[in-house]
Amino acid sequence: MTSTSATKYETVIGLEVHVQLQTRRKMFCGCSADYADAVPNTHVCPVCMALPGVLPVINEKAVESTVMTALALNCSIPAYSKFDRKNYPYPDLLKGYQISQYDLPLSERGWLEVEVEEQPPRRIGITRVHLEEDTARLTHKTDEAGESYSLLDLNRSGVPLMEIVGEPDLRSPEEARAYLVKLRQILRYIGVSKANMEEGNFRCDANISLRPRGATAYGARVEVKNMNSFRAVENALRFEAERQTRALDAGASITQETRGWVEGEGTVSQRSKEGADDYRYFPEPDLPPVTLTAAQVEAIRAPLPELPDARRRRFEQEFGLPAYEANLLTESRARAEYFERVIAAGAGSGDASRRKRARAAANWMIGDFARLLHASGLEIDDARISPADLCAMIALVEDGAISGTSAKAVFEEMFQSGRAPAAVVRELGLEQISGSDEIAAIVDRVLAANEKPVAEYRAGKQEALKFLVGQAMRESRGRLNAAALTETLTAKLREKA
Ligand SMILES: [Zn+2]
Repeated sequence: MTSTSATKYETVIGLEVHVQLQTRRKMFCGCSADYADAVPNTHVCPVCMALPGVLPVINEKAVESTVMTALALNCSIPAYSKFDRKNYPYPDLLKGYQISQYDLPLSERGWLEVEVEEQPPRRIGITRVHLEEDTARLTHKTDEAGESYSLLDLNRSGVPLMEIVGEPDLRSPEEARAYLVKLRQILRYIGVSKANMEEGNFRCDANISLRPRGATAYGARVEVKNMNSFRAVENALRFEAERQTRALDAGASITQETRGWVEGEGTVSQRSKEGADDYRYFPEPDLPPVTLTAAQVEAIRAPLPELPDARRRRFEQEFGLPAYEANLLTESRARAEYFERVIAAGAGSGDASRRKRARAAANWMIGDFARLLHASGLEIDDARISPADLCAMIALVEDGAISGTSAKAVFEEMFQSGRAPAAVVRELGLEQISGSDEIAAIVDRVLAANEKPVAEYRAGKQEALKFLVGQAMRESRGRLNAAALTETLTAKLREKA
C-alpha cells in the first residue's frame, strides 16, 4: 500500500469466530464430541444423522460454556433466549438446516481489550456470543478416471459450536490478529475450548471494507474465508486491503462477496454473499426457549478465573515485575499459576522478600526453564520440577549455599530428574565454597600460576583481574562466591604489591 492510499482510506474489519466447545457430548444428542482420532462415521446416532422422527435435547454444559465465555467478554446475558433454524441446502448439513440462534441469542453487547505494540489498548465491541451446531465434514476427491466425488464424515455433525461475532471496530490487519490472539488466550484460560486454529476448533471469517478517511458510512464489505492460522488472517486482510485500495483508486466499486484465501495466491472470489433473508430463519419448534435467572448466571460466573489482563496488571503491581515479564508469565493460565505457586512456597511473606523471590522466579521461568521446556517439547504442566523445588533452589542461591553459576547446572539436573535441589547439589558436589581459608588457598594457587597477569594488574591493567577471577572460578568449578572471591583476590594482590 502506498503511503497516500494508506492515509486516504480507513480499513474497517469485523471478525466472526467459530469455536468448538470442549464438551463430552454433542450439542443435541448423546454422541461423544471427542472425535479427533476416531474412524469416520463412528460418533453418530439418529439425531446427528438427521433421521426422521427424532428430537434434539439441549446440552446444558454447552449453554454454560457459552454464557461463561460471554461473561469473560463483558457481555450481558438476557433472561430469555431461543434457538432458530437457519435453512440452507448444503451436503454437509443433513437436516437441510442448522440449529443456531438468530434474534434472541444467549448474550450480547460485550467488549474485548486489544493492544497493538506502541499503542494504548482499545476496546473492540462484541456484538454477541451465541450457540449453534457444527456441520459434517466433506472431503473432496478425484478418482483415477478424473471423476470428482466427495466423502462425508458425520463425526463432527452436531458438535457444539460457539460463534463470537465482533463489531466492525478493528482498524488494521495487525489489530485483527491481536484480537484473535487475545480471544484464544481467554478461551483457554476459562477452559471452554482447545481453541486451536490448526486443528480446526477455532475458525475465523473476516469482513473487511474500506471507506474514505473521515466518512461514517461503511463501504461494500468482502467476507474472507479459509484462513487456518493467525498469520493467514493477517496476510489475507493485508492482501484484501491492498486489492480494495487499488480498485477504489482506479475508480471501480467493490462487489459485496465472499472470497477465499489461497496461500501464495491471495483472495479468490467464491460466491456472492447471502443476506439473512436467504436463510429463512424461524424459531426451532423442537426446542424449548432457554431461560436463565440472575442466580443461574452468577453461578456460572463464580468459577471464572482471574483473566489474563487483570492478572498481568496484578503481577506488575504486586511483584514489581516489568510489563514484558508479567506478560510472558500470564500468557497461559498454567504458567501464571505455576509462578504463583513458586512465590507461595517460599519463607517470608513480607513484600520485600516476596518481590525478591518473584524477580528470581521470573528470571528462571522466562530463561532456563522456558528454554528447556521448549527444547523437550513439554508444557509447563508436564514439567518434572515442582514449584516448591524451584523455590527451594532460589533460596539456596539467596542464602549463598550455591553460586549463581552452579545454580544453572543444578536447575538443569532438577529439570531432567525431578529431584530436590539439596540432593542434586550434594550429588554434583556443588556446595559453594565460602570458607575464607579455602578461598585463600585457591587464590594463592591461581596467583602463583599466573605471574604475567598478576604483573599486568599491578601495572594498572584492570582487565587482568577479570582473567584471574575466571581462572579461580575454573579451578573451583564455579563453586566460589563471586563477591568473596573478588574481595580476597584484590586484597592479596594489594598485599603482595
Ligand atoms: Zn448423535
